[in-house]
Amino acid sequence: MTIIDGKKVSEEIQGEIAAEVQKLKAAGKKIPHLAAILVGNDGASETYVGGKVKACERVGFRSTLVRLPDTVSESELLKKISDLNKDKDIDGFIVQLPLPKHISEQKVIETIAPEKDVDGFHPANVGRMALNLPTYLPATPYGILQLIERYKIETAGKTCVVIGRSHIVGSPMSILMARNTYPGNCTVTLTHSKTKNLKEICFSADILIVALGKAEFLTADYVKQGAAVIDVGITRVKSDKTKTGWKLLGDVKYDEVAPKCSFISHVPGGVGPMTITSLLLNSLKASKKEVY
Ligand code: NAD
Repeated sequence: MTIIDGKKVSEEIQGEIAAEVQKLKAAGKKIPHLAAILVGNDGASETYVGGKVKACERVGFRSTLVRLPDTVSESELLKKISDLNKDKDIDGFIVQLPLPKHISEQKVIETIAPEKDVDGFHPANVGRMALNLPTYLPATPYGILQLIERYKIETAGKTCVVIGRSHIVGSPMSILMARNTYPGNCTVTLTHSKTKNLKEICFSADILIVALGKAEFLTADYVKQGAAVIDVGITRVKSDKTKTGWKLLGDVKYDEVAPKCSFISHVPGGVGPMTITSLLLNSLKASKKEVY
C-alpha cells in the first residue's frame, strides 16, 4: 500500500513553478500576477485567500488582494470584475466563494473573462474541459489528476467510481477520468445521494474518488482489495487530543480501508494541499497564454 502524499507532491510542483518564475525573471519576461476578490470577512474565506496569497509569494508570483465589504452591491462587484478583466497587468483572478446571499454567484462566474478564469468555473472553460480542449481545470480535480500522474497510477481500462456530483469536485472529476488521455480512459460511474446499491457499485471500483462531505462514510466493505482510494472530503470535528480542540477527517474510514488499498490518500495531507498548487499552475498557464 502506498500513501499518496499530497503535501510532498505539492511542494515538488511549487518548487518547479518557482524555478520557472526565476527563468522568466532572468529573461526579463512578465512575472505571473494573480488577483483575488474577497467579499466580507468570513473566517474560512479569509484563511483560504490568505493561503493563496502566501503561495503566490512562495513561488515568486505577484498577487493583489481586492477586499470589498459584505454590503457591496452585485453591480459594484460586477464592475470590479470588469475592471480586472480589462487590466492587462493581471493574468488571472478568482472571486472567493461563497458570496453574500444578495449576489448571484452564477452571474459573477459568468462575468469573469474566460481567459482570466483560473478557477475554471466559467461555462466556457467547463465546456472546453468536456471537449478535452486546453482550459483551466477546476483546482481540486486538477490536483487529483496531478497526484494520479505523479504516483503513476494506471487508469486506462480501469473502473472508476466517483462519489458526489458537485460542480467543483465530483462532476468534473467524472468527466476528466473518462477522457481519452492519461489520466483518464476509465469506465466511470458517477454516484450521488440518490444512487441505489452504492456499496455494490463502489466494490467494483479499481479507483474510488470520494467527495461527499460525510466524515468516515466509506468503510472497508465498500472497497475492493487492491483499489486506489482518493479521499477528497474534509470535515472538522471536535477533538480532545489536539491543541486546537478540533481535527480534520476525510470521507474514508482510513484505518480500516488503507490495508486493502494499492494507493490511498490521507486527510489531512492528501488532496487538500494540491488545490492551491493547481491554482498556481492555472495562473502560470494564464500568464504564458497557454490556454487562450
Ligand atoms: P457538495 O456538498 O457540494 O456535494 C456533495 C455530493 O455528495 C452531492 O453531489 C451529493 O449528492 C453527494 N452525496 C451526499 N450524500 C451522499 C450519500 N450518502 N451517498 C452518495 N452520495 C452522497 O460537496 P463538495 O463541495 O463536492 O465537497 C465534498 C467534500 O470535499 C467536502 O467535505 C468538502 O469539504 C471537500 N472538499 C475538499 C477540497 C480539497 O481541497 N481537498 C475541495 C473541495 C471540497
